[in-house]
Amino acid sequence: MENIKTPYFVIDEEILQRYYNMLTDSLAANWNNYLVGYSFKTNSLPWLVAFVREQGAYAEVVSEDEYLLARHLGYDAGQIIYNGPYKSNSSFREVLLAGGYVNLDSKQELNWLTELTAEYPNRRFSVGIRVNFDLEKMCPGETTMGEESGRFGFCYETGQFASALQTLSKMGNVTVAGLHLHSSSKSRSVGIFRAIAQMACKLQREFNLTLSYVDLGGGYCGGMEGRPEYPDYFPVIAEELSGCFSPEQTKLIVEPGISLISKCTTFVTSVYDTRDIKGTRYVMTDGSRFNIDATMIKTSHMFHIMETEEENNRPILDKQIVSGFTCMECDRIFTYENAAELCTGDRIVYENVGGYTMSLNPLFIQYFPAVYIRRNGKLLQVRRKWTPEDYVQGSVTGINPNPEALQR
Ligand SMILES: *Cc1c(COP(=O)(O)O)cnc(C)c1O
Repeated sequence: MENIKTPYFVIDEEILQRYYNMLTDSLAANWNNYLVGYSFKTNSLPWLVAFVREQGAYAEVVSEDEYLLARHLGYDAGQIIYNGPYKSNSSFREVLLAGGYVNLDSKQELNWLTELTAEYPNRRFSVGIRVNFDLEKMCPGETTMGEESGRFGFCYETGQFASALQTLSKMGNVTVAGLHLHSSSKSRSVGIFRAIAQMACKLQREFNLTLSYVDLGGGYCGGMEGRPEYPDYFPVIAEELSGCFSPEQTKLIVEPGISLISKCTTFVTSVYDTRDIKGTRYVMTDGSRFNIDATMIKTSHMFHIMETEEENNRPILDKQIVSGFTCMECDRIFTYENAAELCTGDRIVYENVGGYTMSLNPLFIQYFPAVYIRRNGKLLQVRRKWTPEDYVQGSVTGINPNPEALQR
């Protein structure tokens, strides 16, 4: 294990399974009619997708490419939860015709649905509506959108939600089967989910809806010290929902991403050089900030150091700047203060890096790192490191455009 070439990600299968079970046990105990839709955008590594699929999760996708990936990896069109503002008409139709879940996000999709329902007048179509609502008002300071309003779905406060309901009822052969209330929050607090569940009830009452599902979306915490875990959310959610829904009639859909895969995933890097410039110690590593923080928003990292045995005398240094391998000055990962000197050959292992890392990793300077799973104490490779050959696939490599090179 020690001599595997860095950098690489490791997914601990046992921890992943523990989190998956924690999720479904908690759902079963509180609302025993549920469906898990795994959020592809959070991390669609094919092995991970296969894992959650085997557990019975549907694929939660937010683009045509993600839809096609889910199909490629074995999902039927009926096992898709299709969300987001960027669907394609053809995939939208396929999922609806196959009886999958489609949560409408825009007027454009209402138009597509008008066409589809007119084409199949003898069929009934079930759809969900993504609700845009003022969660910030219910949970001040906690949401990512803040006071400005979110960008997604049909807005309740402006009457766009009510008007979408009207448009749908005019189609005749459409049932509004569900509400989709995903909202991203900074806090990921239990209170956010209480508010989301309250909003579902409010809409049910105000519009007298009969719903076969309520989709709470993702955005849970998982694997963070001192923060909520799945068993903290679902009793509260169930308490709120039971005011106007019952598990007999209404399925609870959850779309976890980061909360499932954070704890089980680490990124292993090595120090390959250290240098002093004007009194600053730079520690150069073969992992990059782009591997674990591509959106450049993290302010701290969880990590541990595995010191190489070749260096024993390690003074304590005030400050060491741990950096990535890229030629970008901003590729500085963290500042290590009042700590033992880091030396070439040391390993720095970042923890909780499963979500929004592999999926956001650019093909910048070095290609995708390898991924291993840990099963029964052994590391097994599930993605090899990408090579230049992988990088050039689909590209013309000579100066003459050549259609054959573009073939899949
Ligand atoms: C991003 C997203 C998720 C997953 O969010 P996490 O924070 O990774 O749990 C689920 N549903 C929708 C609609 C999303 O956009």
